[in-house]
Amino acid sequence: MICKELPVPLMLILTEIMKYRLIPGHFKHAEIERDLAKRWAGFWGEITLATYVKELPQDKYLIFHDIQLQLNGIHFQIDTLLISKSYILILEAKNIIGTLFFDNLFKQLIRKNEDGSEEAFEDPRVQCQRLQSLLKRWMIKNGLNLLPIDYLVFFKSVNTILKTTPGEIADFSRVCKARDIFNKIEVMENRYTHEWIDNQALNSMSKILLSQHSQKQINILEKYALMQKDIRSGVRCPECLNIAMNYKRGKWRCPICKISCKDAHIESLNDYFYLYKPFISNSEFRHFLHISSNDIAQKILLSLKLPSTGTTKDRKYHLHPKGDSLCVLP
Ligand SMILES: [Zn+2]
Repeated sequence: MICKELPVPLMLILTEIMKYRLIPGHFKHAEIERDLAKRWAGFWGEITLATYVKELPQDKYLIFHDIQLQLNGIHFQIDTLLISKSYILILEAKNIIGTLFFDNLFKQLIRKNEDGSEEAFEDPRVQCQRLQSLLKRWMIKNGLNLLPIDYLVFFKSVNTILKTTPGEIADFSRVCKARDIFNKIEVMENRYTHEWIDNQALNSMSKILLSQHSQKQINILEKYALMQKDIRSGVRCPECLNIAMNYKRGKWRCPICKISCKDAHIESLNDYFYLYKPFISNSEFRHFLHISSNDIAQKILLSLKLPSTGTTKDRKYHLHPKGDSLCVLP
């Protein structure tokens, strides 16, 4: 049973926003494009993993995607977590194409590119062992240390070639590619046959996990060492993606493709919440969305029915709490 669906990762959403909000010609564009490609690849890996996991017997496993927990101030994230009455399985998705060497000496994963260059990544098995240790300690702290915890590293593509550095014997027992995941899970099921808990304990474990899940907040401007002056303000056209549209007679009009629409400000207001803070004042709203009239800004803000705090003069409009993601409800 899927207890937590796979969301679009916050970091991916933020990098997408940065791509179109960063002022044209800025030297950080290349870095953002590179990171964006990596984050999309990572997300595709997680989507593929989620598709396979759906095929598992639904009555046997509780499935959690992108669960984020905290232990003594350490925030950790697990791509996919499976819980049965017999064991817990951490699944880490990887989407790295090419020939990959597991370097056991330095605990790294090296990709050899066709041009002879090499790229190093953290050994995903080491990454999983860290998650295994953190999750175990988290379980103990929450009185849930009832089941053995194991892990699997999942590579999305069958075309990924996995090797080990010459002269070494690699332990690929917890590494799989594509549909091989089902064989590896079968091995796990044969390893952990005893049922340690009943349905009631399983459900209460699920409730505690979901209640403790907390999305790590990310300050994307800080991450890329950017300032507010590096960000383009204004409403983005939903059709041609031009920034900025102009507000005239109750509608947003695009000077490039000439379309007009009523609610183009919603997406741009979400951009503001994502980039800066989860609330906005009337003057910040006017400045970010390029609205000159105080009354019009007020009218639009009220129409969004956002929760607000403060008096008329210093009123702040807050986004609706809606699960993991930030969102203005239309
Ligand atoms: Zn347009």
